Amino acid sequence: MLMPLLSDNELRETRCLIDGQWIETEATYEVRNPATGELLARVPCLGAEHAREAIAAAERARPQWSAQPAHERSRILKRWHALILAHLEPLAQLLTREMGKPIGEARAEILYGASYVEWFAEEARRAYGQVIPSHDLSKQLSTVREPVGVVAAITPWNFPNAMLARKLAPALAAGCTVVAKPAEQTPLSALALSKLATLAGVPHGVLNVVLGDAVAIGAQLTANPAVRKLTFTGSTAVGRLLLRQCADTVKRVSMELGGNAPFIVFDDADLDAAVEGAMASKFRNAGQTCVCANRFLVHEAIYDEFAERLVRAVRDLRVGEGSQAGVTIGPLIDQRAKAKVAALVMDALEQGAVLLEGDAQMPGNFFAPTVLGQVNAQMRVAREEIFGPVAPLIRFVDEADALAQANASDAGLAAYFFTRDIARAHRVAAALKVGMVGINTGAISTETAPFGGVKQSGFGREGGPQGLEDYQDVKYLCLGNLR
Ligand code: NAP
Repeated sequence: MLMPLLSDNELRETRCLIDGQWIETEATYEVRNPATGELLARVPCLGAEHAREAIAAAERARPQWSAQPAHERSRILKRWHALILAHLEPLAQLLTREMGKPIGEARAEILYGASYVEWFAEEARRAYGQVIPSHDLSKQLSTVREPVGVVAAITPWNFPNAMLARKLAPALAAGCTVVAKPAEQTPLSALALSKLATLAGVPHGVLNVVLGDAVAIGAQLTANPAVRKLTFTGSTAVGRLLLRQCADTVKRVSMELGGNAPFIVFDDADLDAAVEGAMASKFRNAGQTCVCANRFLVHEAIYDEFAERLVRAVRDLRVGEGSQAGVTIGPLIDQRAKAKVAALVMDALEQGAVLLEGDAQMPGNFFAPTVLGQVNAQMRVAREEIFGPVAPLIRFVDEADALAQANASDAGLAAYFFTRDIARAHRVAAALKVGMVGINTGAISTETAPFGGVKQSGFGREGGPQGLEDYQDVKYLCLGNLR
């Protein structure tokens, strides 16, 4: 089928979407390029009333959408997938301009987001139930999986396309309708993605997008009884608040929250692979990823060599505007983020850490890739999520020490380790208290595997077969009097 293509201007949507209508309001807020400060757009600033309207639209659209054969929903999702690919370049350009990441990473994010749309288009048709061996021959027992209903989806700015695609695709595939609230700083990528969904044939009211007052909209999305599930990706602090708010209406909840990933380098590791993994894990998106290495735990026997090699690799990074060729590190999202990262580095240096690489004099929102040596577990940089291009190096003496340090965190999202010992690989993978483990790799994300955390990194899984189940209720059927 020939796909209709939107012009860059048409794709650059600045209105919100409620019940199939693109709406504008007098109250607006500014969207700026974090690299240059350039004003990109003004978008509507909505509140509780518009959120209520969006929920009502989603509730009205729900019966018909959920009653569609899965095959039909799958067809629409596949069309959406094709449209995303057809608009890859303008979507990536938009993402770089509003979020700052290098254009190559922006392209990779669009493809990553699209991969979830394709995956769940396929999974939609495999929502199998079960026939259960019966305890009583006069009864037949079975289960079916049904869409949970209206879903509220709140997403962050660090992957403005993929974090939303990862929620919309399984929700729509399962037969749910959605009210999405993307992050304030990066609404344009979310609106463009949603525009393509409508072009693909997602009916009026099935997908609604509201922007504006996060507290007021969040209160409505969590209190309204028509919303049956909240899926949230963001900070642990906001996640806790939303969990509490969802309690009164007993909603299903998925929480993809903050991380504090340990990255362990054992003394038998392939150091070339470990440095390559460290660079991929730590410096992608300028360190603004939930799964990025937050603490490098390095065996004392190879600590100096690893530090030296890492510093050498870090010196090859190039900081700048993401749209420029050769740039590998874009800006941080805003001044608040920069101040927080700078405070963590300062705290470490005051407590005896050593600056192995870094530059405090970067202009604007830019932050130089930094390596800190002699870090210990008491420093804030080891305890808090850094969300910036800072690699703190901590020594350990043996496997037990490494595991104790790695697990000494309230977060439990991802962990990485490098070793050539197969028995150790199994032992350590089993002992790490996290939702995802990278063994001899720094890159773990894929639509085919379940993404999510344990402990205060949250619960629920995005991707894999589990990703669809997060948007389905299991109904048990007991058919009696068969004899
Ligand atoms: P954030 O401050 O928690 O914001 C996330 C979203 O929540 C935004 O849309 C924000 O809206 C909204 N929000 C804030 N306060 C709210 C409230 N009271 N009620 C309802 N919504 C509210 O997080 P962030 O700084 O954007 O993102 C970074 C965090 O996300 C990091 O901690 C990172 O680890 C985490 N993250 C986790 C994963 C994962 O899969 N586990 C993936 C990516 C990121 P506004 O923007 O309008 O304020």
